[in-house]
Amino acid sequence: MVVIGILALQGDFAEHRQKIVALGAKTIDIRQAKDLQAPLDGMILPGGESTVQGKLLRDLGMLEPLKSKIDAGLPVLATCAGLILLSQQIEDQESTHLATLPVTVKRNAYGRQLGSFNTPLSFGDLGEVPATFIRAPYINQVDEGVEVLAEKDGKIVAARFHNQLGLAFHPEVDENDSIHSYFLSICQTK
Ligand code: GLN
Repeated sequence: MVVIGILALQGDFAEHRQKIVALGAKTIDIRQAKDLQAPLDGMILPGGESTVQGKLLRDLGMLEPLKSKIDAGLPVLATCAGLILLSQQIEDQESTHLATLPVTVKRNAYGRQLGSFNTPLSFGDLGEVPATFIRAPYINQVDEGVEVLAEKDGKIVAARFHNQLGLAFHPEVDENDSIHSYFLSICQTK
């Protein structure tokens, strides 16, 4: 059975857990460094607040072990704040977190007025998926080798680099489960 670790420090990890369990895989909440020693087929970094999540990862000694696993090929699905944790560059900010995904993100990119919204998006080979954006970032630059999976109004909102899938929106809050299925298919072939 596929086992997915879900970073459960802050944010909407419970919604991801529900999706993964409904699709027939097992989940483990990852709350401390020793949880990362479990054999995992994939890892989810949920939305929330990237500065809080990044600080907790550092304080709990989880940043380096998690980074090594992702660099070594562990499949990861990162949504919203999770995407910010993965990004190698964050606009207008010196510091980064895991910095494994060769993209630049802009935080809170849709401003206050358009802070949260839902829109259908064309996503890679999956066709149209519903997408909920909540104080979302977008990706404003990708390095070579990064596959763009979805755009909204000319801005990149989903990208894949080998084992890493980064989304600006929240697939865990909508009924549709095609993105979680797609992620599980990546975990199965690793
Ligand atoms: N704005 C948040 C951040 O910068 C991300 C929002 C979210 O995950 N919904 O971390």
